[in-house]
Formats: sequence, C-alpha cells, structure tokens
Amino acid sequence: METVADIFGSKVFNLTTMKARLPKETYKSLVDTINNGTKLEPTVAEVVANAMKDWAIENGCTHYTHWFQPMTGVTAEKHDSFISPTDDGRVVMEFSGKELVMGEPDASSFPSGGLRATFEARGYTAWDPTSFAFIKDKTLCIPTTFFSYSGEVLDKKTPLLRSMEAINKEALRVLKYFDCDAPRVVSYVGPEQEYFLTDKELYEKRKDLMLTGRTLFGAPPAKGQELEDHYFGQIKERVSEYMKEVDEELWKLGVLAKTKHNEVAPAQHEVAPIFGTTNIATDHNQLTMEILKKVASHHGLVCLLHEKPYEGINGSGKHNNWSLGTTNGINLFKPGKKPLENKMFLLFLSAVIKAVDEYAALLRVAVATAGNDHRLGANEAPPAIVSIFLGDELTSVLKAIKNGETTVDSATSILKTGVDSLPVIRKDTTDRNRTSPFAFTGNRFEFRMPGSAQSISGINIVINTIVAEALSQFADALDAADDVHKCIDELIKDTIEKHERIIFNGNGYSDEWCEEAERRGLPNLKTTVDALPEFISDKAVAVFSKHNVFSPVEVEARYEIILEDYSKALHIEMLTMLEIAQQEILPACIKYSNDMAEGISMKKSVGVDVPSETALLKKISEYTGSLIDRTNALKAISEKVPEEPMEMAQYYKNTVIPAMNEVRSAADTLETLVGKEYWPFPTYTDLLYRI
Ligand code: ADP
Ligand code: MG
Repeated sequence: METVADIFGSKVFNLTTMKARLPKETYKSLVDTINNGTKLEPTVAEVVANAMKDWAIENGCTHYTHWFQPMTGVTAEKHDSFISPTDDGRVVMEFSGKELVMGEPDASSFPSGGLRATFEARGYTAWDPTSFAFIKDKTLCIPTTFFSYSGEVLDKKTPLLRSMEAINKEALRVLKYFDCDAPRVVSYVGPEQEYFLTDKELYEKRKDLMLTGRTLFGAPPAKGQELEDHYFGQIKERVSEYMKEVDEELWKLGVLAKTKHNEVAPAQHEVAPIFGTTNIATDHNQLTMEILKKVASHHGLVCLLHEKPYEGINGSGKHNNWSLGTTNGINLFKPGKKPLENKMFLLFLSAVIKAVDEYAALLRVAVATAGNDHRLGANEAPPAIVSIFLGDELTSVLKAIKNGETTVDSATSILKTGVDSLPVIRKDTTDRNRTSPFAFTGNRFEFRMPGSAQSISGINIVINTIVAEALSQFADALDAADDVHKCIDELIKDTIEKHERIIFNGNGYSDEWCEEAERRGLPNLKTTVDALPEFISDKAVAVFSKHNVFSPVEVEARYEIILEDYSKALHIEMLTMLEIAQQEILPACIKYSNDMAEGISMKKSVGVDVPSETALLKKISEYTGSLIDRTNALKAISEKVPEEPMEMAQYYKNTVIPAMNEVRSAADTLETLVGKEYWPFPTYTDLLYRI
C-alpha cells in the first residue's frame, strides 16, 4: 500500500524531482534563483522547461498552463498542448524555455479596474520559480504572475511578492542591530480554512445556493448549533471519506494538510495546513479551495465556501496565522522564557502593535467583501473593529516597560488538573481569545477577520506592508541613534504609550467593547461600503507606494474592482431573490392556500364549520399578500440602481439590502405555515442534516 510519504508531493516538480532530473549546474542556479532571487538565465530556463515537460509527460500530461491569480480572487488557466508538428505530418512534444518563462494570455476579460484599455487586450504572465510547478487534471501548471502591457499588475501574486520583499528589506535593517546573522526574513502563513458541506441533490434544488453561494431564504431549523455538539464532534462517515480524499489530493500536490475537524455549526468543517512562506501558502490555499470543491462532487456533496451560507448559523472564516522568521531559523515572534529581556522580540512585537493601530482601517478593508459583511460584527465572528489580543503575561510585560519596572510578576504556568497520574502540563501564556480579530497566539498572530472564500493574498499584502512601514521607521531611528540600546528601549516604550489603545484582551463580541472602542478612537467600519474609501486615502496610497507594493494607479484600480465586486454580488442576489420569490415561492403559497380553500369550502358545504382552518388560511393569504407587495417593492427598487460606482454600492447597502430582508422575512414565515410537500425547495433542516 502506498504511504503518505510515497504520495506526498508526487504531483509536484519540487526540489527532489529537480535534483534528480536537472544537470548539477542548472539545479544550482535554479535553487539560487528560488532562494536568493538571482536572475534566471534563458539557457537555464531552456533546460528546466525540457526536464519539466519530460516529467509531466511521464506523469500522463498532454498540456501545460500558466496558472495565475487574477483579481477575481480565483485562479485562471489556459491550457496549451505540448504538440508541435513535424515535416512528415506527425507531432513531437515540445516545451521551450520561453514558454515556461512567459505567456501572453488575452487579458481583456479579466477585471483590471480600468488599468488595461480594451484596445490593448494583451496581458503577460511570468513564471514564479519560488512556487513549484504541479500537475492537475493531466496538465502541467506553472505558477505565474500576471500584468498588463504597460507593466501594471493585474493579479494577486505580484504585489504579495513585492510586500514580502519590503518586509525582508525593512526587517533586515532592524535585525542588523541584534546579534542575529539573518540572510533573509520571510513572512509565514498558516491559513485555517472553514467550509460547509451539503448534499448535491438538495443543493441543485436551491437556485440561491447555486447562483449566490448562500441561502437567500430559509426559516431557522428546529435544531441549530445550541447544543454545541458539532464542534470537534465525531465525523460522519460520508464526510470522513470526503476528508480523506481531500487530504490525499492535497498531499499529492505538496500541500501540508495537517488538521481537520468538525466546526461549530452543523455541517461545518475545517482543514488547516502546516504553515509555509506567504507566497506558497497563498498558492496552496487557492488549490485547497479548488480541491475541496472538486472532491465534494465525488461524494455526492457540495462544498460551500461562502462566508454565510445560512442565516442564524455561524459563518465561515479563514484564520490567517502570520509570523516572521529568518531563513536561518529564528521566529521573530518567539517571546522566549523571559520576554521582558528579549529586546528583539519586544521590538518586533512593537512594530506589529504600531502597524495595526496606525493602519487598522486598512486591515478592515482587506477583509471587506459582500459575503464577509454578514459575518463581521455579527456576534459570532470578530467585530468589525480591529484590536490586538496579547494575553495576560505579555500585557503585564508591556505594562512593566511602560512603568519603567525591570521585573514582572509571572503568572503560574503549571496547570493543576488535580489528578496526579496525568503528565505535568505547562500553561500556554497566551490563552485563547476567540473574540479577538488579531490575537497573539504564542509565536504568531492570528488574524481572524478574513472570510472563508477570500484569497489570503490581499490580507497578507496589507499585513506585510504595514509592518514593513513600522520597521522602516524603527530602522530610521536606529540608524540615527548614538546609543542603540537606549534607542531600542525608547522605541518599545514609545510604542506602548502611543498605541496601547489597540490592545484589548476582553470580550470582543460585547456591546461594551463597541462603546469602549469608540471612546478609544478606534475605527468601526461596519460594512464594505464604509470601509472601502480608506483604501484610497492618502495615508494608504503613501504606504503602498513607499514600499513599492502598489503604485497609486494600482491602488485606484483595486478599489474600483472591490467596489464593483460588491455591487455585482448584491445585484445577482437581488435578481435571484426576485426570481425565486416570483417563480417558486409565490406559486407554492398560492397552490397551498387554494387547496386549503377548496377543502374548507367542501367541509362547509356538508355543514362542518372550520373556524381555525379558516383563520389559518386567512393568515397564509395575508402573508402571501405581503410577500407579493414586498417582492413588487424590491422589483421597483431593482429598476432604479444608480450608475456611479460608489453611489451604486451605497444604494445596494442602504436600499436594496433592507428591501431584500423584507422579502425574506415574509417568505420565511410562510415556510413555517405552508405544507412541507408544497414548499418548492429543501429547507435548512434538509441542507444542514441530510448528509
Ligand atoms: P487553532 O487552535 O488556532 O485552531 P490550528 O491547528 O487549527 O489552530 O491552526 C493553526 C495554524 O497556525 C496552522 O496552520 C499552523 O501551521 C499555523 N502556525 C503555527 N505556527 C506558526 C507560525 N510560526 N507562523 C505561521 N503560522 C503558524
Ligand atoms: Mg483551528
């Protein structure tokens, strides 16, 4: 039987495969490009391309594709076969260095935010050698960046790579003042991916799930998540078989799938990999989302990645565990046994505190989507207010520094279980706080606001850039200091004094916190539409330009795309809702009440008086009437959508969403009154429990 070790990475052109297949010199220069970013010579590319092609063909491939991440948030691929005609009417399989390194897909149908005029449709893809090529569906996939004719980025990978460069540069400037011989600093990420599963046959009867990814109708089920029996619960057999296949497929692709479990809501689950460099983790998360969806169909299931498939039931997020490490193995967020004396740790911690406080609004924008608006601030996910959780120990360390003290009362770190036979367990000094949006969890920060369907690229671009900025300011101060030690102490103390307000260890779901945050002057940007203008603020544009992550035009383009995406998502939801209400729900309600009326009049004709049934019929007719009125109102609203992008988004938020809520509430009440066999599609109970 094949073991995990046998299959792991079997579909990846990784270092082991490269070493076995490339001439020594070629291998060495490619590794140098991967590790140190040295320029890749065309002759090297030629040899690599040939070896890749042979390997791919031996593994059953007929095609190759540049695999890139346009601003749609999903991946894109255009398959070309390896065939090349010969004089005698046959074909040989070819793949050149040029084809490996560069591609020229038509870019006209990808979102560009106005960056690429339609008359200049050309876009370019360029090989990212730091992310290994892999095989998917008999196609050799080559991870690439994607940009326009004039060089502006059109994708989510290029700015991420740029932000990794920025943080490397600024972190090294700071590390120079510590005893740490670091060649490079890398940002690492471990994204925890949440998702729902539902039965495929039931799903196909729900137009809302199919078209919008979430239910636009549905009365609450009799049993929700109140028993708290699903979290970490026993995994159902069908789901377990599914998860096994997901793991196997991911392992073949070199994704370090590690943890899987049931989540809080019924039919909700999670998969998390072992963390990797931000770039690879992002590619791998895209692949994970794809595999989760694809494998589901083998089991008669559908995987829902939407942030809020079901109203009243917990939504899905994607916890972004982020840290900084040196390539010689030092985690810069490891407090060690005596954090108060660990100046390097304290300075890097200060950089994060400063960055998150100064750019809280930008972090909020990075998680702003129509889907995620249903989660944030809804008493189940972190609030829309950004704050940092540090835990008691670190908070007391910072307090000691602020007060100029040199010792700190350390809390007891041994857990008392009261059972002598159990092993001695040391307490984690940072207890879990599930309500915090940005929590320090021992050796990393866990950003809990991202939505489950989002690419993690945008989030990490922002985190890397704002932390690079804080480090850059620290480095400037250190460069100018006469006494470096004193300067380090001052920078740490100064940060605590100035940015203390962002630290909050309490319950982030409480109303008191919203009030307290307002007193502290922290932004509370409740929706995407409220948050987005922050993205094009002078401050945001300046920090992205300074670190060469986005040029001002690139920021503007992304702003337009996010705004457009928001309106498009709501537009589709609005039309889907109208269709379902008019074509499915209303006919069902009318049929049911007609049948009832017939029954009642029959009973009456033989002298049976049925006042309660008549009252029920009246009630149903009233709700049906109000559903008709509310649907008509939404229809009228749908015809008056303004054209200017910001006005349009505002209109969806302020006018369309409330009107949709009205339609839904009438329909959901009717669902509880109308006979089950009359109801036109599966209910919440069906979708959540029949798997
Ligand atoms: P939780 O208890 O938060 O649910 P999980 O085990 O589900 O934890 O996921 C934690 C994630 O954090 C994993 O992807 C793990 O690899 C990642 N992680 C651990 N250490 C680091 C680190 N230093 N930097 C980045 N991510 C890390
Ligand atoms: Mg987890």
